[in-house]
Parts: sequence; structure tokens; C-alpha cells
Amino acid sequence: MTDHTLTLMTVHAHPDDEVFLTGGVIAKAAAEGIHTVLVTATRGEEGEIHDPDLDPEEARHRLGAIREAELRRAVSILGVDELHFLGYRDSGMEGTPENENPHNFHHADPDEATARVVRLMRQTKPDVVVTYDERGGYGHPDHIAAHRAAVAAFDAAGDPGRFPEFGLAPWQPSKLYYGAFARSTFDRMQRLFREANPEGNFEPPEEDYSSFTVPDDELTTWVNVHPYLLQKQAALRAHRTQIAADNPFLTMSDEIAQELMAYEAFIRVRSLVPVPEREDDLFAGLRTPVEANHGAVTSGV
Ligand SMILES: [Zn+2]
Repeated sequence: MTDHTLTLMTVHAHPDDEVFLTGGVIAKAAAEGIHTVLVTATRGEEGEIHDPDLDPEEARHRLGAIREAELRRAVSILGVDELHFLGYRDSGMEGTPENENPHNFHHADPDEATARVVRLMRQTKPDVVVTYDERGGYGHPDHIAAHRAAVAAFDAAGDPGRFPEFGLAPWQPSKLYYGAFARSTFDRMQRLFREANPEGNFEPPEEDYSSFTVPDDELTTWVNVHPYLLQKQAALRAHRTQIAADNPFLTMSDEIAQELMAYEAFIRVRSLVPVPEREDDLFAGLRTPVEANHGAVTSGV
């Protein structure tokens, strides 16, 4: 165990999800010398095309390749050590014809999707795993499929009776989290945008954001990612097809960005190590005393 490097695995559905939900904690982990693994289920073939330099008609058929290249730029900005695709196809939004394609992630055999994540967990040995909640954050079918695969894999990867055919030693991650958009952050966003545009008829980000935000009393973990905001915004910009030039995350003033994006919030759903009820660190309970002090030399007690 002594030569094990603390490892963070985030399990996402599409290129760009890794930045919105976990960009700060990935950059923070990378800066602290924690090994970072990003699992992305699809290449986002059914996403939107906002890049003004692209002809949407022409770009549509090669959007998967375009978004893979965008993701590779984003992960190099965030400091991701390993990027793995699960190899499924983007399911598109519910109710669209693209949603019916049999190769889509949400049509995939759930056991097979779990197996693919188990294999990656046994290969990369994550201590902490982060994915979406059971609603997939905002209900996209691929996010729900990623949630199911990640949770099932968390519970199976350490079981020697599951997937012995891989020939890989079982590995049990220690902590499982769901990334969350805090309700209070969206309340503040509305207030700040109104204050910034007292004349404008401000439209809230969604009609009713209670459907995809989480009440603060359900959140266990707030991580200060303020030092990594520039990296997070640069990684967002790397997803050129997904981020329209007028996206509020890019156009908001630095002051507003710092107030809204300084923390990332999580719900801890499994922990095999003792932890405080409220944490400010995904790796709480896992760091050695030296690491907890960011490498400061401490005398043994
Ligand atoms: Zn997504």
C-alpha cells in the first residue's frame, strides 16, 4: 500500500461535463500530486454546435471527433493524468429521434457498462470516485446511465467474485460522491445577475432550477476551488462547440465568477473511512498527516 498514489476518478457522460461539475476539484487534485482519472462515457456526438468557426451542417457528422479533441485540450488544462472513453454513443436529449439509436449509452446493457467501469477501477485504483446523482444532475439519460454504472462499479470492483474474467486484482475505492449544483449558488446567481443588470429583464438560468439543484442541507462537502478558477474557465473555453460566446459562465464579471464558482459542492454517499459529517476535502480521512499539510515537514507525534 505504501507505494499507492492517492487517485481521483470522475465518471462523466459527455465532454464538458467534467468541467462544469468537477473542473475545480480535478485541477486542485492535480496540483496536489493526486493522480487524476477521467472516465467519459460518450464523445457527445449529439451535442450542440456553437463554435462560430464551424459550419454546423458540415461539422455535425464529425462532432464526436471534434469534441474528443476539445476534451483532450480541456483535460490537459485541468491536469488530468488519464482519460478513458467508455466507447458509447451520445443518446441525445429525451424525446428526440437521435435518442432512439440502438448504439446509445442509455440503451447499453447496464451490466456491460458496469463491467467497463470496474475494469478501469481495478486498473487505475481510485480512492475517491465522483459521478452524478440518481437524477443525472438534470435528467439527461446519459448522465443517469453514467450514475448507474459508476455506483454499481464502486460496489463491485472490490468483490473478487465479480468479473474475475478480467484477471485483475479487486480494488475497493474508499469514497463515493455525487457532484451537485448547490441551490444557494443559483439563488446568489439570480441576485447577482439582477444587480448587474437592473434595467434588463433578467431571465433565470432555468424556469425552475429546483429540478437540478440540491438543497444545501443535503450537501456534505464544499471544496474551495478558488485558486483554480482560471484553469476551470480556460477548460470551459476549450469546449468551443458547447460554450456559446454569450454563455454567462464566460461573460460574467470576475467578481461574480469568483463568488459563484469559488466552491464545488458534493454529496458523500459512501465512505469506508471515518470522516466528519461536513467536509471541505474529497480526500478527508485518506491523506497522511504530511499530505494534509501540503507537504510541510511535520514531526511525528
Ligand atoms: Zn452531459
